[in-house]
Amino acid sequence: MKYEFTPIGIIHSCFKEKFGIPRQPGLIPEAVATLEIVPPFNRPEAFKALEGYSHIWINFVFHAAVREQWKPMVRPPRLGGNQRVGVFASRSPFRPNPIGLSVVRLNEVKCNDKGVELRLSGIDLLDGTPVLDIKPYLPYADAIPDAHSGYAPDPPGQSIALSYSSQAEAWLENVAAKQADHIRRLLRQVFENDPRPAYLKAGCAERKFGMTLYDFNVSWTVENNQVNITEIKYLSVPED
Ligand code: SAH
Repeated sequence: MKYEFTPIGIIHSCFKEKFGIPRQPGLIPEAVATLEIVPPFNRPEAFKALEGYSHIWINFVFHAAVREQWKPMVRPPRLGGNQRVGVFASRSPFRPNPIGLSVVRLNEVKCNDKGVELRLSGIDLLDGTPVLDIKPYLPYADAIPDAHSGYAPDPPGQSIALSYSSQAEAWLENVAAKQADHIRRLLRQVFENDPRPAYLKAGCAERKFGMTLYDFNVSWTVENNQVNITEIKYLSVPED
């Protein structure tokens, strides 16, 4: 039996590639996105009273992880990428039905003549992610304080020392102050979640890495827990 679903919206996220996206929502509070509701679902009345909720569940499609063949076992980054667990004992994007589930902070419900947009933060979603459904988060039903969670008992993450090269500092100086502060907070939180794949963490001393956020690329090196941002540059020179 197969079912067909129609996305109700699309995510416009700060994460333009998978590298850098946290493993779960809530780990990078500074990570923001807009959920653009698409016709015919973009009717303001369909979102009446949603603004009363601080968080929402998002059902979405792992549109950049669709594979022909599903595998019964996966190797979660949490276990170093070399121990297998059942795919249904994981939150892996590579699953029989590439459907994701994230609870995110709802900062604003914007309804105007163009339609409906939801301002979100604490997301773990790639730019362009199709959204199938949203639901209000109900703490009395959804938060289970005494639950236990197997091989993923605690959030990942670590404290890091972060430095900026003079070029990166100069680049930030040329960005609007408010946006620059946001970018600094976002970068710190991304690096505290160590975006490197597990196989790159083991044993690698200093390696150069790069990722795309918004419309710019960040290059950095890692040495122990010291992250050195070596360069930040726009992907293409913005129109003057
Ligand atoms: N909280 C969700 C996602 C967990 S996996 C769930 O439990 O289902 C999170 C990872 O999915 C992110 O680190 C990112 O690398 C990946 N991801 C996010 N959006 C994606 C998309 N649209 N397509 C494929 N992978 C995506």
